[in-house]
Parts: sequence; structure tokens; C-alpha cells
Amino acid sequence: MVSSSAISCCSELFGALGSKVSFAGDLKYNQTETSYWSEQEALLKPRCVVHPETSVDVARFVSIVTGIANCNFAVKTQGHAPAAGAANIQDGITLDLTLLNTTRLNEDHSIASVEAGSAWVDVYRTLNPSNKTVNGGRNGAVGVGGVTLGGGISYYSPQVGWTCDTVVNFEVVLASSEVVNANRTSNPDLFRALKGGGNNFGIVTRIDFETVDIVEVRGGHLFQSADYVDSILTAIANIAAAEEYDIHASIVTSCIFNAASKEWTILSIPIYTLPEFNPPVYDELFSIPNITTESTASIVNISTLTAEPPIAQVYQTFLTSTYAASSELLIDLFNVANATVNSMQVPADVTWSMSFEPLPTIFTEKGEGKNVLGTSKADGNGVILLAGASWSDPSSTGFAQAMGPKIVEIMDHTAAKVGGLHRFKYLNYADPRQDVIGSYGESNRAFLRTTSRKYDPQGVFQERVPGSFKLDL
Ligand SMILES: Cc1cc2nc3c(=O)[nH]c(=O)nc-3n(C[C@H](O)[C@H](O)[C@H](O)COP(=O)(O)OP(=O)(O)OC[C@H]3O[C@@H](n4cnc5c(N)ncnc54)[C@H](O)[C@@H]3O)c2cc1C
Repeated sequence: MVSSSAISCCSELFGALGSKVSFAGDLKYNQTETSYWSEQEALLKPRCVVHPETSVDVARFVSIVTGIANCNFAVKTQGHAPAAGAANIQDGITLDLTLLNTTRLNEDHSIASVEAGSAWVDVYRTLNPSNKTVNGGRNGAVGVGGVTLGGGISYYSPQVGWTCDTVVNFEVVLASSEVVNANRTSNPDLFRALKGGGNNFGIVTRIDFETVDIVEVRGGHLFQSADYVDSILTAIANIAAAEEYDIHASIVTSCIFNAASKEWTILSIPIYTLPEFNPPVYDELFSIPNITTESTASIVNISTLTAEPPIAQVYQTFLTSTYAASSELLIDLFNVANATVNSMQVPADVTWSMSFEPLPTIFTEKGEGKNVLGTSKADGNGVILLAGASWSDPSSTGFAQAMGPKIVEIMDHTAAKVGGLHRFKYLNYADPRQDVIGSYGESNRAFLRTTSRKYDPQGVFQERVPGSFKLDL
């Protein structure tokens, strides 16, 4: 049953914001619901959706919802966090920021001011004619707000760090409904807390990024037989562990398990941020036979590369871990995951995948101590795991939600035995059951809690915004 506070909240919001508030059955409400990436997020039905067009609208929203007891809400940009409740809320209020979507370059093109509801591809399209980009998401449909507040991995990350490391200013609506800027000189503690602190501090309406100079890049997909999985994982580990990491190399290698055939497909996406088809960094990987007869390699601009076609809305989970960049370890991890998944009666509609991406120290050292992620050069070169299940039949949900933690737990145990398990869990790839904030280390967690008490003394973003990773104050 919808609570009376949600009903009065929506009616007050409607009185103040009129057509910027939508209800079930309205076109705008349905557009928000269908825009979520995962089915389980789309199945949550808020009492109303608010569609602000300016930070002033967001401030009015905050002042109304904080004035009514138990008026809970969710903050959404492009809705790509898969967990139910991360950016939507059953019977509460969903704040959909997607109309905050403009990008402006400053006069000397050094800073791009991007409204937080934007999809990255729109940002890239705006900046591309100036041969500039920002250090944002690799899939253009993903949102600026979510990616940046969780850290952010870009094709340019080996050059300039996490997405959040290239932010010079956040415009934020606080729980008091005050609109403030957070940067090196104004509210510097809030500035740091937002670099990895997620939705715990306020509603970010605009983010100013340092720009990156660009030329065309190498794109393409590589399908290789699972018979070569050891060689493929060795090539990835060698790229990640190179004494001098090639800052233009950005690669994701995914091992995808088909439950019906019990076979693995290995897909790599080797990007290079210069227009070179065969950069030496990929020699080892490219020497392994490709099972597609035609090369998909192309030289493209970043907005074309990131304009990936949308996929159908199905159920999805994400889980993550971080490991040492060692070929022996990656092979062991694949072997234990393979044995575990094969020991399970995986329903035929469930696809299990494990993607490995280099996290070299040249990437993490850029923001060390300036963000709250706790990733450090001292950890050594690493590899991030993004694991997850996707499925279409709701009767597979119980199984699919349970399988991931079991597999990743065994992988983590295997890594820990050889000292190859890193502490860090990447917020944007994590399952809600994982301890992301704890993985940043005790001093970062304490700093986040202190900063929350300072900027949100009533705990609005802890209590009223239940989605995503909270600080457990
Ligand atoms: C297809 C796909 C591709 C991806 N590619 C990448 C990639 O290249 N690099 C990478 O690092 N990650 C990537 N991810 C992971 C991605 O970073 C997360 O899914 C992220 O949460 C998506 O952000 P969003 O804004 O679209 O999501 P949303 O679901 O809208 O938001 C995610 C979380 O951020 C909070 N939030 C969002 N905006 C704001 C705001 N303005 N103020 C306060 N809180 C806010 C929300 O409350 C929510 O908890 C990808 C995910 C998918 C599904």
C-alpha cells in the first residue's frame, strides 16, 4: 500500500512543480520506467516521478520532501545501476535528472561543464567538433552522475585517472536545499567525498571536468576460442602488469558462460586512444587466433565508438572484486569459477559473465589521496573483475541472485591464498551485499562519515534515500 506521506509528498510536489511531476499512466512516468537498464529496477513503481529542469527545481524538490516525514526518494540519472532500488523506489518519489542534460565548453576549451543527468554520448557529441572529450564512461548510454560519483573508468583512465579525478567542481543541492559548489577551495571536504562517495551527500546537478585532447581511436571486438583462455588471460595480465603501462591501451576481456551449452565465449574489446590498428601492446593478444573471419577493428571518433546499440531490458546483477595482475592468478580464478559454475544447475536462460579490466598503478596514482576510493600505488598493478548474471525468466531470479556471491567468494578465497586479493570493491560494479565503503579503508570511511554529518546533519541521504551504498552512521 502506498504510504500517506508519499501521497501528500507527491501532491505538494505537483502543487509546486506542476507538469514537472508525473504519475502512473503519464507518458513521462512511463519513459522513466522503461529507461532503466535492468528489469528489476523498472519493476519498482514510485508514487510519482519528478523531472527537474534546473538546479532551482531540484532545490525546491529537496525543500518539499525534507519537510514531510518519511517521504523517501531515489535519485536517477541514466538508470544503469542494475540493483533494484539504486535509482528507483517502490511507492516513494523518483527524481529523474535526465532533463539536466546540457554540456558547455569554456572559452579556452579546458573545462567542460556537464549537467549531471546527461548520457555520456551526448557529452562526447557536443565536445567532439572541438577535438576535446572528458574522461567519462565507455558506453555512451550510461549516466554522468552515477559513473562520476562512483569513481568512473574511461578509455582515458590510464592517462588521467578515475573519471572523478578529472572533476574540478561539483554543483550540489544539499539536504538543506542550499545549492553549493564543491571544489579545491570551496567546501574541499565535500569535493573529495563526492569522488567515490556515491549518492550520500546531496544531489549533484552539474559537474565541471578538465577536458582531454583527442584524436580518432582504435575500436573493435575480438572473439577467441575458450581453448585459448590461458593464453588470453596471460596476455591481459601482461598488459596490466607491464613495467611501463601503455597509457593509450584500454581493454576489457569477458568470459561468458552459456548455461544451455555449458560453453564459454571469450570476447575482448581492445581499444587504443590513438588511430593505430595494431599497437604493439596488443601483439600477444592478437597473435592468438580470432574466431571471427572478419576483423571488426576500426578507427573512429569517441562519440561513434561509444554510441553502442541499446540492449533489451532483462534482469541483471553486478558483482566485483580486484585482484593482482598475475597471469597464474587469473588462470586459477577462471578455473575455479568454471568448476563452480559447472557444478551448479544453472537455468538455461541465465548467462554468467566475468569481465577483467586492467587497473594499473599509473591509473590509480593520479587521484591517490584526492578521492576516497582508497586505491593506491602501493597495491601494485591490479585487475578489476565485473561479474554478473543476466536472465529473462523471473523464476530464475532466486538462483541467479545467489550464484554470483558463491562464485566470487570462491574466486576471492583463491586470490587471498596467494596474497592476490586487493581490498578495493568498485562501487559502480558492486552488488548491494558487498561492503563497498569499507573497501575504501578505515580512514576514508571515517572521513565520509564525518563529512556526511557536517553537510547532512539530519541524515536525509542516509535515511530518506535508501538506494545504493550507505555510510552506516
Ligand atoms: C551497459 C553499461 C556500461 C557501463 N560502462 C561503464 C564504464 O565504461 N565505466 C564505468 O566506470 N562504469 C560503467 N558502467 C557501470 C556504471 O558506472 C554504473 O552502472 C552507474 O551506476 C551508472 O550510472 P547512471 O547514472 O547511468 O545510473 P543511475 O542508476 O541513474 O545512478 C546510479 C547511482 O548513482 C546515484 N546518482 C546518479 N546521479 C546522481 C546525482 N546527480 N546526484 C546524486 N546521486 C546520483 C543514484 O542515486 C544511483 O544510486 C556501465 C554499466 C552498464 C550497465
